[in-house]
Amino acid sequence: MLARRLRVFRVKGLVKDEHWIGIDLGGTWVRVAVSDKNGHLIAKTSEKVDKSSAKAISDQMIRLTRFLCNKHGFGIKSLKGAGIAATGPLVQEEGVLIHPTAMPFDYVPITKPISEELGIPSCLINDAAGAALGEKMFGAAKGLDNYAYITISTGIGCGAIVNGTLLLGKDGNAHEVGHIVIDYEGRLTCGCGKRGHWEAYCSGSNIPNFIRMRLKDMPKKTVEESMLLRMVGGDLSRLSAIDLFAAAGKADNISTRLVEEIGVLNAIGFANVINAYDPSLITVGGTVTLKNRAMILKPIRKHVKDYVINRIPKIKITPLGDDVGLYGAIAAALTYISWR
Ligand SMILES: [Zn+2]
Repeated sequence: MLARRLRVFRVKGLVKDEHWIGIDLGGTWVRVAVSDKNGHLIAKTSEKVDKSSAKAISDQMIRLTRFLCNKHGFGIKSLKGAGIAATGPLVQEEGVLIHPTAMPFDYVPITKPISEELGIPSCLINDAAGAALGEKMFGAAKGLDNYAYITISTGIGCGAIVNGTLLLGKDGNAHEVGHIVIDYEGRLTCGCGKRGHWEAYCSGSNIPNFIRMRLKDMPKKTVEESMLLRMVGGDLSRLSAIDLFAAAGKADNISTRLVEEIGVLNAIGFANVINAYDPSLITVGGTVTLKNRAMILKPIRKHVKDYVINRIPKIKITPLGDDVGLYGAIAAALTYISWR
């Protein structure tokens, strides 16, 4: 059973030849890694998330864990525990996802099937909260007591460590900042069903909705001449976030303008995090960020001053890159399971 508020513990006193499983369950990809007793990743694999049923999600994680162990010759008996860092919302103590925004299910059991099938203890944590813990244990936040991690990926999330404590909340959803309101007119609907949320405008899956909304406000001729329209053969329903950043990278006027507008909205989101948690560092990850580093960070750094009251912290890309979620899952396992 996880305590509702947990200090960020150091790991110590672990025995030799033990392995830990870290699973990063995102909206699109599931990544699985094996680590040694110190949390160093020694093998990893990934697949697109199998959303054919709620049960398929844990089945896939179990299958990938067994595959990795077989492939690299780690006996299942050497496994000491598994940490699962997952897209939320969730109920941490019950180890389940509840109405996850990126999956079409009401209830997704995670820790029970994993523990029963693999015979090891497991724990669940919000993926961005896990990433914050991973950054604190293995990355740029070592030694920091006030720190936040923000991911801009299929969704948007945040993990915050305040006065050395990882904030979790009553169910483990203390930092669902992707669902803070940044547009009181609520022009776009979020994956969660509510309107005006940050994620509805700036996450990888929702950027196309933002583009289509903005193009409706622009003169027809300007839109017709844009590189964006040509890239999708005139069919705006085919637009992706990748198209937008590719066109902006080629200096397409409309795309450059839209990337800047998304940057302003991101700056509002970042300012909310800074005003709420007062971190001395924010690291940023997630696929949208990692694939478009300058186009994401530059406008945030430029505009965040317009919305903060607190002193602006350093804002930089996570040095843990794509693996930040895996390090988060491992950090959660090492922190919570080791100390049971
Ligand atoms: Zn939402």
